[in-house]
Amino acid sequence: MSASSAVSPDVLAAIGGTPLIRLRRASEETGCTILGKAEFLNPGLSVKDRAALSIVRDAEARGLIRPGGTIVEGTAGNTGIGLALVASVRGYRTVIVIPETQSAEKKETLRLAGARLVEVPAVPFANPNNYVHAARRLAERLAETEAAGAFFADQFDNTANRRAHIEATGPEIFAQTGGAVDGFVCAAGTGGTLAGVAEALRAAKPGVKIALSDPEGSALHAYYSTGTLKAEGSSITEGIGQGRVTKNLEGFTPDHSFRIPDTEALGIIFALMREEGLSLGGSSGINVAGAIRLARELGPGHTIVTILCDGAARYASKLFNPAFLRERSLPIPAWLAETGGALP
Ligand code: PMP
Repeated sequence: MSASSAVSPDVLAAIGGTPLIRLRRASEETGCTILGKAEFLNPGLSVKDRAALSIVRDAEARGLIRPGGTIVEGTAGNTGIGLALVASVRGYRTVIVIPETQSAEKKETLRLAGARLVEVPAVPFANPNNYVHAARRLAERLAETEAAGAFFADQFDNTANRRAHIEATGPEIFAQTGGAVDGFVCAAGTGGTLAGVAEALRAAKPGVKIALSDPEGSALHAYYSTGTLKAEGSSITEGIGQGRVTKNLEGFTPDHSFRIPDTEALGIIFALMREEGLSLGGSSGINVAGAIRLARELGPGHTIVTILCDGAARYASKLFNPAFLRERSLPIPAWLAETGGALP
């Protein structure tokens, strides 16, 4: 490699191209090769950098955003962090509408990244005050009042999100496994990652098995198993679970679907932290649990890939806080109780 091609011209060029990491215990317990795509290594520390960059590039190409313009988005946090970093490099402002229940760490990161935060109560999509509708209305208002205009990123229904995964994440997984990928599984928030990677892998490898790993409180597992959108229970995970078929999920059907309780996901992220040096957020636990379930469906000898969406530090005050876990009667490993909650 020449010196110049080893240098990224800006941080946006460092988005994607993440490593695939073999998950030892999950692989040993199932007799499969279970691989996690390390999306927490993106510059904004999550998988959503990819969607953010793709959405902004698409808006630029279609003339929907002007220099100095404002990007508005409703987000659980990670998309906002990705958009704020893309906006810093490309010369835009960001206004993020976020449900107040999201972690303090994500809100603080957004503020530091230069986003203006609008916190709203966490209410369902059917309620007009839901953060997605609030963001759309705010974008419409700012489009009229801001001199350089405003653009609603619309991650749930803007398929530039899914395209990032059709064009990059999926092909990266195919190339990194030398084409030897038998299954792919992940959770859906917008569905961009799941539907996008599925589309790319199914085109490259007919017969590959795609699975949804759904948290409690999401309606998608019921939808793909019975045809009816129905949510039951709740989850402390953030950024995943969905009550409707978003545009990014349109036309997509998984081969398998799993409903994963928080206790199962938490046990996995605690073990990965202490036994494999991986500090991960809750959605990664749901994903690895899904990969283990898919491995059991397919049987030993298969290669299954999932997504390690973001890191533990973003949830220190929740998933790694004994008081938070105790209040919700969730399991607290002895080592976490002893540290009093500080991240190791
Ligand atoms: N994990 C985390 C932590 C997220 O923030 C998100 C995005 N909301 C996802 C997973 C799901 O990704 P997608 O929107 O592509 O379905």
